[in-house]
Amino acid sequence: MLGKRGAPCPHPWAALHRAGLINRVLAPSNRRLFGDRCPPISLSCFQTPRRIPYSEAIGQEFRPAKVGDSFGPTWETCWFKVELSIPPAWAGREVHFVWESDGEGMVWRDAQPVQGLTKEGEKTSYILTRSMKEPEPHSLTLYVELACNGLFGAGKGSMIAPPDPDRRFTLSKAELVVFNRDVYELLMDLEILLDMAQLLGEENQRSFQALYTANQMVNVCDVMDPSTFPAARDLAAAIFSQRNGESQHTIHAVGHCHIDSAWLWPYEETIRKCARSWVTVVRLMECNPELTFACSQAQQFEWVRSWYPGLYAQVQDFVAKGQFVPVGGTWVEMDGNLPSGESMVRQFLQGQRFFQEQFGRICSEFWLPDTFGYSAQLPQLMRGCGIRRFLTQKLSWNLVNAFPHHTFFWEGIDGSRVLTHFPPGDSYGMHGRVEEMLKTVKNNKDKGRVNHSAFLFGFGDGGGGPTQKMLDRMKRMTDTDGLPRVQISTPDRLFSALEKESSQLCTWVGELFLELHNGTYTTQAQIKKGNRECERILHDVEVLSTLAVARGGAFQYPASQLQRLWRLLLLNQFHDVLPGSCIQLVVEDALQYYAGEQGIWLGGHSPFGGLWDLLGGAAEVSVLDCQALSGTDIGTEPLCFPALVTVPSMGYAVREPLLPPQPVAVRRQVSTTAVVLRSVYPTSKSVPGGCCANQFALFDDVPLYWDAWDVMDYHLETRKPVTTLLKPLEITLAGGLRGSASFSLQIGESSTLTQEIILDATCPYLRFLTQVEWKEAHKFLKVEFPVQVRSTNATYEIQFGHLQRPTHWNTSWDWARFEVWAHKWLDLSEHGFGVALLNDCKYGASAHGNILSLSLLRAPKSPDAMADITHHQFTYAVMPHLGSFQDAGVIQCAYNLNFPLHVVPASSARCPPWSAFSVSSPAVVLETVKQASPRGRTVVVRLYEAHGSTLVAWLQTSLPVQEAVLCDLLERPAAQGRLPLEQRGLRLSFTPFRVLSILLVLRQ
Ligand SMILES: [Zn+2]
Repeated sequence: MLGKRGAPCPHPWAALHRAGLINRVLAPSNRRLFGDRCPPISLSCFQTPRRIPYSEAIGQEFRPAKVGDSFGPTWETCWFKVELSIPPAWAGREVHFVWESDGEGMVWRDAQPVQGLTKEGEKTSYILTRSMKEPEPHSLTLYVELACNGLFGAGKGSMIAPPDPDRRFTLSKAELVVFNRDVYELLMDLEILLDMAQLLGEENQRSFQALYTANQMVNVCDVMDPSTFPAARDLAAAIFSQRNGESQHTIHAVGHCHIDSAWLWPYEETIRKCARSWVTVVRLMECNPELTFACSQAQQFEWVRSWYPGLYAQVQDFVAKGQFVPVGGTWVEMDGNLPSGESMVRQFLQGQRFFQEQFGRICSEFWLPDTFGYSAQLPQLMRGCGIRRFLTQKLSWNLVNAFPHHTFFWEGIDGSRVLTHFPPGDSYGMHGRVEEMLKTVKNNKDKGRVNHSAFLFGFGDGGGGPTQKMLDRMKRMTDTDGLPRVQISTPDRLFSALEKESSQLCTWVGELFLELHNGTYTTQAQIKKGNRECERILHDVEVLSTLAVARGGAFQYPASQLQRLWRLLLLNQFHDVLPGSCIQLVVEDALQYYAGEQGIWLGGHSPFGGLWDLLGGAAEVSVLDCQALSGTDIGTEPLCFPALVTVPSMGYAVREPLLPPQPVAVRRQVSTTAVVLRSVYPTSKSVPGGCCANQFALFDDVPLYWDAWDVMDYHLETRKPVTTLLKPLEITLAGGLRGSASFSLQIGESSTLTQEIILDATCPYLRFLTQVEWKEAHKFLKVEFPVQVRSTNATYEIQFGHLQRPTHWNTSWDWARFEVWAHKWLDLSEHGFGVALLNDCKYGASAHGNILSLSLLRAPKSPDAMADITHHQFTYAVMPHLGSFQDAGVIQCAYNLNFPLHVVPASSARCPPWSAFSVSSPAVVLETVKQASPRGRTVVVRLYEAHGSTLVAWLQTSLPVQEAVLCDLLERPAAQGRLPLEQRGLRLSFTPFRVLSILLVLRQ
């Protein structure tokens, strides 16, 4: 006989008894949970398409409304005015205002938000009084702000379907009720006992003890006579107080409410979701001083701070009491794969600074339960930001391989380690049930090594987090023989306990790759392109602004402007925005943040205007290089003709066009229709005979469920080469400095692609400037380069470094990585030769056998039916090279492709070339130059070792440096971090992939 799916009942007799108990007590008691009821004196409403403040709302004209009315359409807001009068006969009773609707509600009282009400989060009661006293005012007016969307937006037909724009939301209950707490407590006792009886198993005598106790309780209890309840409750208390032995596992229960900063609803709704959820948590804390609540994402604190100052003050009080616990240390819970190394640093820098300013301390745990994989660079970045502990659980979603640990040391590409914990219940939204506690213990893969684990409970995404019921369940399991010990705890207490017993823990080296959601490297290409471009813009603006300040004059570093723009970029890196798993409304918001009037693109360019003159700009045309990669390159914009120029590292020069030593030759082959672009680089032996490079291929792309998220391995079986030429290859530039040819293709039924293939003199890679009109449904476009290279591993750029992944599918772990992510380049090399594939805004890639593929465009239909249906422009490049990719300069070339030279007009006087910084080793990349804050004339420079080598490099600067000190990623000086200023510059020691940050104090 089976009970709930998979869980055997201890005994047929026991199962019958359980059913009997439910009939005899639970059902009638449930009916007695609420006593007398009373409707509101009046109910009226006002509806608006905007999300408006309370003060504006209450001044509007309210019209009569009644229970049963429906409101909408989707995304509108209804404000209800509810006038209530508590009957005097209810003196001494607990009185609730009960509100049920399928929209998300917020109760306002005396101009303050007081309670979130969301049926899906089991929150339908606002407690007016625990025990009504005679003299209390019996009449009151409440306002309820009802958002016309559910917990998960308004998907039409399924959760992740695009929102139904015309959904209506019904008010199904609005009344005062008497709440019988004694009945409730009795029901909680019985629930736990019956769960123990059912779940502990026939071989465990505790299951029978629980059952017999419940049976006795029913016998002594008369549902109609509350005076019989205490005797029944005493029986339950007796069994709950029978304690465990010392060896029992300890569960650290922490309240939580995972709120996606945007997903199936727009950013603006998230602000209200935060307020609804947090005010509910605050109410619960007032009655339960033991309740703790872990809350991440500085951005959400900032939203509540600016939009709900009264609530924020209450949150601050509970933070001070240690109950409301800020965690994570980042601005948002960002995607763990796609943001650049510097972006990830800024997630922590903006986040930790915010927590320090607002709450007087930084977070000591990184908190990212719900993103789609975790970069192998994260451990070093965490350590550099004051964090040595990490909590997540998303790898439990792996489709192929079960991750072998719940508690372990995670070691990144540089060797940094962080103590990592996955709550073994594989969830961050537990309900405090017996079943979940038993699963947490049973599932734990590190039994014997550690005896503590996390248990995050509460409804997420606006569900208001924990409930009283969850707390009351766990109170009964504090230390009850047969069940794990359940403590309300904090992340700090959990990790402190784990640290004490960490001596036997295993270590996982390298990335935490999620074997699911691999489509998120490609979906919503415009968001990804916006991210890459805005990362570049903010980089360049910081470099230029810092150099302008360093050179003196009146220029003010645009610190607050840059902070605002960075925060927009960081917000868009949220784990449902940058991955592209959001609805169309969110995509529109995200693109506005990149390129709208207040966005990064324009905001980032505004300081440019004044900068050139300050940079000493005296030349007719200056060429500016914002990377510390000196060399000769071709600058184009905004000139209409290209010119070959030599620019010093992170500096500028007057444009003095050079003649290419080896011009490009472009000619049409007589025998075929092929066009040959020839330069000095070894392109000819890169492609095996009979194969075509730059081969486009279209795949059917129909995942099992998570449309925008997933590309399944079976899509590979549907490969169709794209071969229909619309316009044959034509020479567009005949050669010399630059040669190019272009062509157009028909893709699928209605999409087209036009490409210009460009080869520049002195440039070791061939560029493919690509335009696509994309109108597909459930198709996946890739471009493939079969290469004449044999290697069992390919190399992929990640944040501040690179890693290798296999090119074969030997094991399930290899095969599950059929689609992976990379940043600016990937490379396949054998000894002495290799081919790299570079890109300016793509992230999805693969290398199988000898074929390098770049993932270009997808066409999912959920949750955004219009995802990627638009015009696209992107550039990728192929770079065959001799020697290793390190020696051949692949990394520098990928930077060049992504950070083109700035060519700017300037005044007429001449000036010599100038370099702000240069680094002695090509293995070291100077990534970031910015002003330190809050120190006025202090500059932060950040460098990393990019080749995977141990070396000493010298950093030279022409800035007036007075003092140099090593610092961490939060820009805090290191103890004994002073660097001597030597003739050759600053001597810097690197180990593989080490990131170094230095404070440079400039002379006035
Ligand atoms: Zn999430």
